[in-house]
Amino acid sequence: MDLAKEVFQHVEKLPGGNLILTSTDKLFNWARSNSLWYLLFGLKCCAIEMMAAGASRYDMDRLGLMFRASPRQTDLMIVAGTVTAKMAPRIRLLWEQMAEPRYVIAMGSCSITGGAFFYDSYAAIKGVDEVVPVDVYIPGCPPRPEALIEGILKLQEKIKQESIVRR
Ligand code: SF4
Repeated sequence: MDLAKEVFQHVEKLPGGNLILTSTDKLFNWARSNSLWYLLFGLKCCAIEMMAAGASRYDMDRLGLMFRASPRQTDLMIVAGTVTAKMAPRIRLLWEQMAEPRYVIAMGSCSITGGAFFYDSYAAIKGVDEVVPVDVYIPGCPPRPEALIEGILKLQEKIKQESIVRR
């Protein structure tokens, strides 16, 4: 409904057809924010909630989200689980292979701070933002699918504020 409002507020009806008036930024941001393709990339138990959010009950497809197994076909990485020192370089490599503009969501305490592995772990990284820039943080252990969807809506709001020129 909001999408329709957003588009049609720029529509001016003329005899013989419709003319859509908008800025390039608004058009690009509208398209990008509503077609986020995310990398299928679960690292630990939070991934179960991410999979639940993608399945039929929560149906993230309705927000324009589709998962892909190749980083080159994605512009969103949802880091769901504990990031280990061994996995960190792979995360960075996959992120570099993603299409630009690209975004990262840190899902769950482990990916935000190391979570239960913050103390006394030789292997856990204390937050995926030490490896790649993070756009949205979703706390919880694990966050429920509703929380992930809320985080995606926040990311969509953020994308709508972007400007091609500033970027
Ligand atoms: S935040 Fe909790 S549920 Fe998520 S990966 Fe860490 S321990 Fe598992």
